[in-house]
This record gives sequence, structure tokens and C-alpha cells, in this order.
Amino acid sequence: MNPIRVTVWGENVHEHKSPKVAAVYPDGMHNTIAAGIRELLPTAEVGTATLQEPEHGLTAEKLAATDVLIWWGHMAHAEVADAVVDRVQQRVLEGMGLIVLHSGHFAKIFKRMLGTSCALTWREADEKERLWVCNPGHPIARGIDTYFELEREEMYGEPFGIPSPDEQVFISWFEGGEVFRSGCCWHRGNGKIFYFRPGHETYPTYHDKNVRRVIANAVEWARPQGQWTGVSHCPNVKTPVEPIKPKAR
Ligand code: ZN
Repeated sequence: MNPIRVTVWGENVHEHKSPKVAAVYPDGMHNTIAAGIRELLPTAEVGTATLQEPEHGLTAEKLAATDVLIWWGHMAHAEVADAVVDRVQQRVLEGMGLIVLHSGHFAKIFKRMLGTSCALTWREADEKERLWVCNPGHPIARGIDTYFELEREEMYGEPFGIPSPDEQVFISWFEGGEVFRSGCCWHRGNGKIFYFRPGHETYPTYHDKNVRRVIANAVEWARPQGQWTGVSHCPNVKTPVEPIKPKAR
């Protein structure tokens, strides 16, 4: 099988504005996420792209050479050009996998693909998160115990304004009492989408071995199973497969 080509897209803003975030992710969150994938999927070809690059680093050529796109954004969702969102959407419909992390729940591309509010409740209180595997046979849960915990995370709570997932892999419980659908799968066109909740910028979540395992598993799950090109065309098929007999009026 060909190596999986992964592009990790990072908004790359918090790291330059907050010393606290820069201390946790001195190389940028996107590079830490990419390093986790390289560690667990050594044959994958893993690159990065950021908001600040021309076309946010997501040119048509780059996307054509991407099997799975990972997305982390938060404070600059509005700065993502609609033309780039259109392009990413098209590639997902064709078959590219899309993994959206944490605050990417409000990214233009996530809302575009799901078509709902994607709103939720939240709280920053240094609380424990326990992620329960609710679908142990799912490939994204491979190698994960019945649950794993993150000692400090931001809380995201229900109701989460998403269409009912096609497959639910994780549900989170938080120390303060809320629960949240934290690992959700959808199919859109020929592409697969996975949303994974953890990853607030001030916590070392993307250094965590279980989080890295889940993201790597999701990359393998989301890789294209084939290509469906020309997804937005409705060709007029004037020549039928079989001859159509004239009907008496
Ligand atoms: Zn957050």
C-alpha cells in the first residue's frame, strides 16, 4: 500500500501570542501533532501547513497530494478564506479524510461539512477528563483501554450541535460533571470525517501517548478508500446504455 500522505494544518496564532502556550508547544502545535503521527506511523509522509502561508498552505496541489488533513484552529476561524474552505470541502467529497481537533468544532470547514451549529458548552477550570471507549471494536479505539484520562483539560459539554454521528467512538466525562461526545465519525461524499475533542492549547494534550494513538488510528481509518472525482457535476447522459424503444402515445 502507498504511504499515507498527511497534512497537519495549524492556525499557529496562540503559540506566538501566549508565552504559556509557547512553553507547552515551542515548535507549534501543528509540529507536535505531526511528530506524534510520525512516531506511530513511521511510513506516513507527514507535512504541515499554517494559516499564515499563502492560501493557508492548502493549495490545490497540496490538497491533491493529501490523503488525510488534520485541522486545529481556534481564534482565527474567520481569517480562513472561503475559497480554501471550498477547496477542502471538494477534496473531502472526493475522498480525502478530515480529522478536526478540539476548538476546530467551530472551524468553517467543520461547520460546512456538517451543516449544523457545532455549538457546545465549555469551561476552563483545570479539570480531569475521562474518555470512555464506547465502541471497542472500532479501528480508532485500537490499543486504547476501556478509558483513558487527561489530568487537566478544558471542559466541553452537551448539547453539542452536530448531526448524529455515523459512529461514536469516545464519550468524555469531566470532573465537574458534564459529558460530551468526544470522538465522532461521519461520512460525507466519499470522504471520512473524525472529530476528536481533546487539545486545549494551554495543556500538553498532544504530547499524551493515548491522544497520539487515537490521532494515528484516525489517520489510518480516514485514509481514502478510492476516489470519486467530478463530485459536483450532474452530467446529462444523452446516450443510454441500452437502446430505448419508442413508446406508443
Ligand atoms: Zn480550547
